[in-house]
Amino acid sequence: MVKAVVGANWGDEGKGKITDMLAENADIIVRFQGGANAGHTIKNKYGKFALHTLPSGVFYDHTTSVIGNGVALNIPILFREIKSITDKNVPAPKILVSERAQMVMPYHILFDQYEEERLGGKSFGSTKSGIAPFYSDKYAKVGFQVCELFDEASLKEKLERVIVSKNVLLEHLYHKPLLNAEELFNTLMEYKSMVAPYVCDVASFLDQALKDGKTILLEGQLGTLKDTDHGIYPMVTSSNTIAAYGAVGAGIPPYEIKEVVTVCKAYSSAVGAGAFVSEIFGDEADELRKRGGDGGEFGATTGRPRRMGWFDCVASKYGCRLQGTTDVAFTVLDVLGYLDEIPVCTGYEIDGKVTTNFPVTHLLEKAKPVTVKLPGWKSDISGIRNYEELPDNCKKYIEFVEEQIGYPITMVSNGPGREDIIYRKSPLKK
Ligand code: GDP
Repeated sequence: MVKAVVGANWGDEGKGKITDMLAENADIIVRFQGGANAGHTIKNKYGKFALHTLPSGVFYDHTTSVIGNGVALNIPILFREIKSITDKNVPAPKILVSERAQMVMPYHILFDQYEEERLGGKSFGSTKSGIAPFYSDKYAKVGFQVCELFDEASLKEKLERVIVSKNVLLEHLYHKPLLNAEELFNTLMEYKSMVAPYVCDVASFLDQALKDGKTILLEGQLGTLKDTDHGIYPMVTSSNTIAAYGAVGAGIPPYEIKEVVTVCKAYSSAVGAGAFVSEIFGDEADELRKRGGDGGEFGATTGRPRRMGWFDCVASKYGCRLQGTTDVAFTVLDVLGYLDEIPVCTGYEIDGKVTTNFPVTHLLEKAKPVTVKLPGWKSDISGIRNYEELPDNCKKYIEFVEEQIGYPITMVSNGPGREDIIYRKSPLKK
């Protein structure tokens, strides 16, 4: 069976922790979209890790970690990451890389930087990992699949062809040094020697695994609101972050995805530009940022301070709906224990009307939050394992959010560790 672990919000919801936790009972963990532009932070017996490309199941020795065809594969980063975990005594993980995954080329990273520079104040706040140029090339059919490394004559010829238009842009738009086909070819041959032992027909492998009754986790990156189609376009990422894309990006039938665990954080945070209705500022934001996550809300890849906000029921309801949520994992709840009252955004006021439906971008930009305040629980809930033992106001907060979003909260995460989880029976779970 296949279970997807995806985000309801802007990313950084704690998907890494939930995937790492669920991987204990899984055989295969697949990354199906995105690249090294965002990270998952995981804390376990080996230490604390920021993963960008490797699936969050790499810490177990019974799991196979798969890079699906939907991923933007940065080969040197993948190998640096493997080394960073084996250097900390994690057993060498079993890794498979789809022969159809496309590679982030060195020039994708350059184009990402050059374009952000060119846009100046109108930039997207890209992490400059090459993701947008990568997916543009993939859909323009001038990308490079991993399997192309193994057909050297065609690869050389294609490189020469592809860089012609890149060099026009480099010369006339960006005024930067030109690309050289031979140099690129040599770099790709280095990539080939790194990746060769792992390359595999992933779709066939997963087909067989399903026939053998294995449990497969699909691990999403970012969240619904960053989805290219359903997110806050154009301040989105360049791939689909919703579970439906898991079938495409892993190469499995859509009907095999039986469970969608949507990770939802107990407050909001976002990186990059774009409308963020429940955003807070000043001391209120600094306090939450400092206390948030595990050691503060700063980007796992970039170290950038995240933008902070209160829980947004409108965005999260929409986020859960587009994912096709069967279970909500409600995370980082322990962080809110310092507050006397906890504001929650329950509606958006747009042109004088209140709505609970998440709107398209130009309306979203006008939306003002409608906020209610719930009483805080003023205590440390970390270490609690049983739902009934949570303070009453904490249960009320969870149940209020569940009612607003309309999807069952069946897991509550109250700490960064694997064991920091409370399973809950939800009245909404059929
Ligand atoms: P992801 O990209 O969705 O995996 O999220 P990140 O890894 O960027 O951010 C989640 C952060 O919160 C990480 O530092 C986690 O270790 C931490 N975290 C996850 N769940 C919890 C939780 O329930 N409580 C606390 N305090 N931290 C958590």
